Amino acid sequence: MSLVHLLLRHARQTPDRPAILHGTQAWATHGQWAQRSAGLAQRMVAAGLVPGDRVVLFMRNHPRYLEILWAAWWAGLVVVPVNAKLHPREAEWIVANAGARWGFVTHDVAPEPLAGLEQQIDVESAACDGLLAPVSDAWAVPVIERDAQDVAWLFYTSGTTGRPKGVMLTHRNLMTMGLTYFVDVDPVTTEDVIAYAAPMSHGAGIYAIPHLMAGARHVVPASGGVDPAELFALGEALGPLSTFAAPTIVKRLVDHAEQHGLSADTSARAFKTIVYGGAPMYAADIARALRVMGPRFVQIYGQGETPMVGTALSRQQLADTTHPRWAERMASVGVAQTPVQVRVADTEGRSLPTGEVGEVLIKGDSVMAGYWLNPEASAAAVRDGWLFTGDVGCLDADGFLTLKDRSKDLIISGGSNIYPREVEEVLLTAPGVAEVAVVGAPDAEWGEVVVAFVVAQSRASVTTEQLDAHCLAQMARFKRPKRYVLVNELPKNNYGKVLKTELRTRL
Ligand code: AMP
Repeated sequence: MSLVHLLLRHARQTPDRPAILHGTQAWATHGQWAQRSAGLAQRMVAAGLVPGDRVVLFMRNHPRYLEILWAAWWAGLVVVPVNAKLHPREAEWIVANAGARWGFVTHDVAPEPLAGLEQQIDVESAACDGLLAPVSDAWAVPVIERDAQDVAWLFYTSGTTGRPKGVMLTHRNLMTMGLTYFVDVDPVTTEDVIAYAAPMSHGAGIYAIPHLMAGARHVVPASGGVDPAELFALGEALGPLSTFAAPTIVKRLVDHAEQHGLSADTSARAFKTIVYGGAPMYAADIARALRVMGPRFVQIYGQGETPMVGTALSRQQLADTTHPRWAERMASVGVAQTPVQVRVADTEGRSLPTGEVGEVLIKGDSVMAGYWLNPEASAAAVRDGWLFTGDVGCLDADGFLTLKDRSKDLIISGGSNIYPREVEEVLLTAPGVAEVAVVGAPDAEWGEVVVAFVVAQSRASVTTEQLDAHCLAQMARFKRPKRYVLVNELPKNNYGKVLKTELRTRL
């Protein structure tokens, strides 16, 4: 079982149907997509890549993303899509950890060669054109078959221990995710079009799978990112878009619609479905989104370890304003998606009664095979088939899950995950810094922003400018603290552990 067959089916049935667009420009039909992916697969195999080898994608959203993913699966390889916002040093760490051999990049994201790669290909170069040159007979290029339990996608999450962990997603995990989309999120037809506004290295890109299953079109906005005016115009030109958006992006779309006085009918022409998730959506924000843009929202809750599959709050549930518990439901993340069981448990994994708050556990075919080269972390995260998500919440009598907190110290800013420990480790290497504690502060625009409490070494003088410059040189911009608070000491408990809750209340 391999994800590559999703492409082959449509390339055989409807080779001339438009499949990929770059803005409003045609990029590839299903047939051309298969010919290019087959070409790249053949050349990667000829160059010595063997089944199970890893290839990194460290690039902004680009139509070639899709061609490279399916080429890699054609050749039996594992893809490692890396967040384009990471610092090249962070990407190099992933290259080394994954033991990746080849990397596909865009120049803006990786202007210099990344250490550790045998081959680095700029996807906008003539060399890449050559690698992706279509073969006339795609069917003659053998598909290197994989088993359902083989890894297809190595998804690096930010790590609680300061280093990211590679989540091993198998062909079966991603097939399950794809099929579930039609049941729990949205039916899809060949007339549909998915727009990749959020990063393709994450959930947005993963949703290419159900859309290819259904033979829909895929559009990468010309800007490669989130520009509300561009997205509205694209939807009007191509037909209503489906898109995955973190709550921050939803907010920007709604702001745009409101500021330009766009009616719900205009939104309906531009957007079929906006799937949101990845970070908490405040009830007031989704209520406003529904009011301004109409009933075109679906919420999902999942995590890299069970990609896009956990719970879902459907379009109907969101729109059912007359339901006596509508307000609570809007503040929830919905009910278990079809292929998984969801329960709330104590620290020993024993189920808690309805209404009690505990850790959220998920079991089913979407749950990862484990963390790459990290058996201890895998054993701690998945016990007896149950994924311990680190999220804290409670279930109501109807099975709706409401998240309360995260047991991990994760900060989610604009839909991107930031583990405080990672930022703390960098700050602790800045000259003159004695101690630091990083926490998230609530923020109307970003959901949360990073705030660093810093204690200077005695007699050292530390300035905000120095700290910021230090962070800029070593980590992704989005992880940098938005605010520094210089303090004489950090609040600690008897064991010397910093009391982060106290710091959060100070904010
Ligand atoms: P990631 O592994 O990057 O997908 O991040 C997953 C984490 O994001 C989850 O463990 C949750 O803490 C959070 N998250 C995902 N979806 C939602 C949602 N719909 N509402 C609130 N938090 C969410």
